[in-house]
Amino acid sequence: MTRPLQQPTKPEVLDLSGRKGLVVGIANEHSLAWSSAEHFRNAGADLAVTYLNEKARPFVEPLARELSAPIVLPCDVSVPGQLESVFNAIEKRWGRLDFLFHSIAWARKEDLHGRLTDCSADGFAESMLISCHSLIRMAKLAEPLMDQGGSVMTLSYYGAEKVVDHYNVMGPVKAALEASVRYLAHELGPKGIRVNAISAGAVKTRAASGIEHFDELINETTRKAPLRRTVDACEVGRTALLLASDYTTAITGEILYVDAGFHIEGMVFH
Ligand code: NAD
Repeated sequence: MTRPLQQPTKPEVLDLSGRKGLVVGIANEHSLAWSSAEHFRNAGADLAVTYLNEKARPFVEPLARELSAPIVLPCDVSVPGQLESVFNAIEKRWGRLDFLFHSIAWARKEDLHGRLTDCSADGFAESMLISCHSLIRMAKLAEPLMDQGGSVMTLSYYGAEKVVDHYNVMGPVKAALEASVRYLAHELGPKGIRVNAISAGAVKTRAASGIEHFDELINETTRKAPLRRTVDACEVGRTALLLASDYTTAITGEILYVDAGFHIEGMVFH
């Protein structure tokens, strides 16, 4: 006999009222970080947001205003001290942090467009520092501010685990990112800090435009994925909201696919 569903005593809502979050990776209104930030804010969270540099500032500042973000600071993770300044500002203003959303990746053009076989040591290290080690740094800086527990999130892609043509150096970099998620989850779990990645399907963003044949990648996803489509930024944002919320307090070390099911398919003949 099936058990009757338990009736909730009050309506189910994802509420982040009073929660403090940091979002790193908004470049413009197409950024996956922007959609996530909108969802966090709509659920009541107060947000700190960053922009890469003075060139990016005019695009990010109006979005930060829409979020009523009280902390808006420059953050290029390759510039010494900038990431630390962001965390200092958070500590000063809020004294704590409940969640952080890491949504950045970068590789030199020649490495993104060239074979992994030809990737230079410098290019590889630079891509790793910006796209992967920055998550480790953020987790370390967040640790003392998350003394009541917290949620650390990042974004990955299927190219971390299977070869995706033209993903090149980002494949091993995302593989390292996903392994880092598991190790950080292991180390920070005893403090109630959860660490998860969203493995997102292909979405047309500025970062995506750097990947050659991206349109073909979207076509292939649409052909193969069980849902016969790719995903949109809003679907990624909603999942980020879920991971930031108390609805996922037992989920950590997870790579959560938001890819219309693409990753489950092997050989598909249609
Ligand atoms: P995007 O271009 O909007 O965001 C990339 C962000 O990385 C930008 O805000 C950029 O300023 C930031 N960045 C680059 N170098 C940096 C540095 N040195 N310091 C700080 N920030 C830096 O593109 P997006 O698609 O929203 O990318 C966000 C994340 O999502 C990336 O990790 C990307 O790999 C991942 N992702 C994207 C897709 C997709 O199809 N768009 C799919 C899966 C995963």
